[in-house]
Amino acid sequence: MTTISDNVQATQARLNQASLAAGRPANAVALLAVGKRQPAEAVRQAHAAGLCAFGENYVQEGLDKLAALADLRQVLQWHLIGPLQSNKTRAVAEAFDWVHSLDRLKTAQRLSEQRPDSLPPLNVCLQVNISGEDSKSGVAPVDVPALARAVAALPRLRLRGLMSIPEPADTLDAQRVPHRALRVLLDQLNADGLALDTLSMGMSADLEAAVLEGATMVRIGTAIFGARGG
Ligand SMILES: *Cc1c(COP(=O)(O)O)cnc(C)c1O
Repeated sequence: MTTISDNVQATQARLNQASLAAGRPANAVALLAVGKRQPAEAVRQAHAAGLCAFGENYVQEGLDKLAALADLRQVLQWHLIGPLQSNKTRAVAEAFDWVHSLDRLKTAQRLSEQRPDSLPPLNVCLQVNISGEDSKSGVAPVDVPALARAVAALPRLRLRGLMSIPEPADTLDAQRVPHRALRVLLDQLNADGLALDTLSMGMSADLEAAVLEGATMVRIGTAIFGARGG
């Protein structure tokens, strides 16, 4: 039986291989382990295998896991990567280190107001609906520059970059298209004077394509934790 530790090693090897193939340094891409619908114990095992950054999709599940792993709070980084409703912003501002799924100024303003002074500014990425799907959350690419400028001006947030969940595609070439579009968008924002360093893109199925297109953080669930429970 493969263990979480085996999977962490295999995923890190895959990431190193992809970075090499892209001509990028081995440590250019951060590995974010996505523990949604996995028990806190699984996250503890992934940490024991060497990982420190964890992504959660659901606010309450993330808060429960943070509490269960409170003994590791100083060494773990917690990232919210799922939808954020405005009635949950206070708990998120008080507990998480990053939010990848920001797509409304109102939510950003609340997070900034509610981020405790005792903590460093909350790291945020704008989620971009890069494939233009009707049902997906995320801001339309055309609206990204204005939202980015407004979010970058908020005192208790630190705008780090962009995140996307593209439509699944079967081939490497097809997978690269939306990742490239997100990178071009980030380059444009930086050319316009922002200083953004994060492209959160790539999951278990398209990690290689994302790394080829410049991902700085990949979000990996299944390849580390196995299939998710119900
Ligand atoms: C579930 C999830 C992931 C990880 O997906 P896998 O295919 O299991 O690697 C990454 N990002 C987001 C936003 C997710 O919801």
